Amino acid sequence: MKALVIADNADTQRELCAGARTLADTVLLAVIGTDPVPDIADVAYALELPVGQAFENAYDTVEALFDELSPEIVFVQSSPRMKIVGGQLAAHADTSLIADVTAVYDDEAESMYFGGLAVKRQKASGPVRFYSSSGAAFCAEEATGTDRVETRAFATPSHPLTVRATKPVSSEGGELGRASVVVGAGRGFAHKEDLQMARDLAHAVRGETACSRPLAENEKWMAKSLYLGVSGRMISPKVYFALGISGQMQHMVGVHNADIIVAVNKDQNAPVFNQADYGIVGDLHEVLPALTAKLA
Ligand SMILES: Cc1cc2nc3c(=O)[nH]c(=O)nc-3n(C[C@H](O)[C@H](O)[C@H](O)COP(=O)(O)OP(=O)(O)OC[C@H]3O[C@@H](n4cnc5c(N)ncnc54)[C@H](O)[C@@H]3O)c2cc1C
Repeated sequence: MKALVIADNADTQRELCAGARTLADTVLLAVIGTDPVPDIADVAYALELPVGQAFENAYDTVEALFDELSPEIVFVQSSPRMKIVGGQLAAHADTSLIADVTAVYDDEAESMYFGGLAVKRQKASGPVRFYSSSGAAFCAEEATGTDRVETRAFATPSHPLTVRATKPVSSEGGELGRASVVVGAGRGFAHKEDLQMARDLAHAVRGETACSRPLAENEKWMAKSLYLGVSGRMISPKVYFALGISGQMQHMVGVHNADIIVAVNKDQNAPVFNQADYGIVGDLHEVLPALTAKLA
């Protein structure tokens, strides 16, 4: 069995290659416009993307590599632009892509349903199985391989996208995937300035800050790249502090791989306490300064 992994983020390259290794004897890695991580695949392919080209214009290069390698399994990183490439490739192979898988068992893949309230299992229909995944499901697996890298020249598409303008996006949260301690803030923080209490705690425990979706999407107090959950980031730190977070399923699925969950909430009936290893019932304004002073 031969698997092709297409990813750009270094951690995701590693995790998807590790996951692919549990299913396939040969693991091949394709990386677009950047350097592949060494020693995690049998062969890594660096696909050229000339400066100024839209990422999506790399599709023809990816398709040529897919035809050359004929993999039976394809994993793409669960990012919007990678899913576009993966979806096009699946259509090229006359099948469909199973999106955002959280586990793969032989020929069946699991993904979340109803915003994380249920899990569904799907069977790939075509001769090639296409999955997109954040890679978090495979973080416990070991990636193995060689440092062999081959380059493939950029194949100019017949109808290329033209980049007319660019604007920077927040790169906040880049360290979240690797952080061993993450401090998550929720709607229990009534004012933007109160978030300093979460930042102080994160500083004291050498952790990274994150949040629930309403703080990023509704209040816009924190970057969208920092919210955790079914439609945000999935993390697996050693310790996750859920501060003023009620513990709705859509948030908790993003942190359920944490070794230890510590919750602070003024409502003793908050659902977060059902999943927390340690719970403090109290007001953030009283608990957080005391906790930070203790842990500093
Ligand atoms: C399709 C879909 C996808 C979603 N995806 C996500 C997702 O990826 N991530 C995500 O986070 N959410 C997601 N949501 C939203 C999710 O359902 C919840 O609405 C959200 O997680 C709630 O955020 P919260 O816990 O911060 O706020 P709330 O539910 O409002 O909870 C606030 C908590 O703070 C406590 N509190 C208030 N004041 C204090 C105080 N002074 N001291 C201590 N505690 C206090 C309250 O008791 C309460 O428990 C999604 C929803 C849908 C429908």
